[in-house]
Amino acid sequence: MTRKLFWDDMYAREFDAEVELVDGNRVVLDQTAFNPRGGGLVSDTGRLNGVKVIEATKEGDSVYHILEAQAELRVGDKVHGVLDWDRRYRIMRMHTSAHILSAVVNRETGALITGNQISPDESRVDFNLEDFSKDKMSSYIDGVNEAVARGLEVTTFFMKREEALATPGFVKLANAMPPSLDVLRIVQIGDVDTQADGGVHVRNTSEIGKVVGLKTENKGKSNRRLYFTVE
Ligand SMILES: [Zn+2]
Repeated sequence: MTRKLFWDDMYAREFDAEVELVDGNRVVLDQTAFNPRGGGLVSDTGRLNGVKVIEATKEGDSVYHILEAQAELRVGDKVHGVLDWDRRYRIMRMHTSAHILSAVVNRETGALITGNQISPDESRVDFNLEDFSKDKMSSYIDGVNEAVARGLEVTTFFMKREEALATPGFVKLANAMPPSLDVLRIVQIGDVDTQADGGVHVRNTSEIGKVVGLKTENKGKSNRRLYFTVE
């Protein structure tokens, strides 16, 4: 099991850890600051003892670090990890923006998210919506920027699964949660959004800067995709 240092401190850029498993170019550590691919977020990248980490993936309770080259590491070795911080920080800003966007669209239309992809340069969120004009997109983005400018605190806490499921709005993607989890991590963005989520966010919405809507696409009869970025 890999301890998730990014749950204790989402701003940890470097860390020390011990190797627990080596499988070719894949390495599992006792703890990591690398947020693995999942929940719509692309993986962090960076270095382990100077060797490039091209992706981190999640398998059960373990995080696998995929190295660019065969690992010259053995179980028990001490390693130092460093994240590509510019990339990670953009992912955090994009991810918190995506939560605010889904809350704004949900408030205005009742629509739910059907998918999302959070990347450093361009992110997208899919909604089950029929009506999604250019004007509407700009009004939703304006709503997001109003919330961002309020400088809302982003906090995380843990809650028993049954309790979270019983709280309206907390688990918007209930079926996506592994049934084995007894305790869910909850991310709260001021008074705008509260939901179960395992990913990395900024501490305060003022760090997002400005959210810019890029384009919308129709992905089926009642599926609308909105692309955005942060500046
Ligand atoms: Zn999320």
